[in-house]
Amino acid sequence: MRYTTALFDLDGTLLDFLTAEKQGFFKAFEKLGIPCNEAIYERYSAINDSLWKAFERKEISKEIIGTKRYELLFDEYGIEADFKLCGETYKAMLAESGILYDGAIELCERLKSKGIMLYAVTNGTQYIQESRMKISGLDKVFIRTFVSEEIGYQKPDKEYFDFVFANIEEKDKTKILIIGDSPTSDIKGGINAGIDTCYFSDKPNPSINPTYITNSYDEIEKIITT
Ligand SMILES: [Mg+2]
Repeated sequence: MRYTTALFDLDGTLLDFLTAEKQGFFKAFEKLGIPCNEAIYERYSAINDSLWKAFERKEISKEIIGTKRYELLFDEYGIEADFKLCGETYKAMLAESGILYDGAIELCERLKSKGIMLYAVTNGTQYIQESRMKISGLDKVFIRTFVSEEIGYQKPDKEYFDFVFANIEEKDKTKILIIGDSPTSDIKGGINAGIDTCYFSDKPNPSINPTYITNSYDEIEKIITT
């Protein structure tokens, strides 16, 4: 077998984050009794995207995004509600969502039955990601989940990968493959860490040069086990 160990990204690779995000948003509004519709959600998405871009430009800290997006949204629509509480409620709702892509758990089960050691590598909040692993059943196929919040570093940081390597059985880096949908965190992180990379996407990205590109679970199984 080509690889003994697979490091799987979760959101956008095995778990459907876009659906989970939208459901969590509507559930939070419902729970707090705030009227909501598709247009408000679309505006929320745009505000959220612009805050994440500001974070990437190092203009704001990551910690404030969770509440700031609701503060800005509520201001714009004149919604009189507690934006901090809404941020917390959204997170709690998100934690209850473990929507898998079709075939995701079956892929992991097949790999596990062939003796591949599976680990999840994810940037996010620990209680949310652990809860979603449990609900989706992924916790039963993965040996361990490495959540950035627990480690204090995140993909693509070298320190994040050093922590992972120190805590998995395989010590030969040529036997380890990372699979993920993010060019910046998964693929660049994997390349910098000195392991092979599988970019989970239907088209190449000019900014990265992964070992493999595919959005087919069957193909991923072949890559790992052949
Ligand atoms: Mg991802």
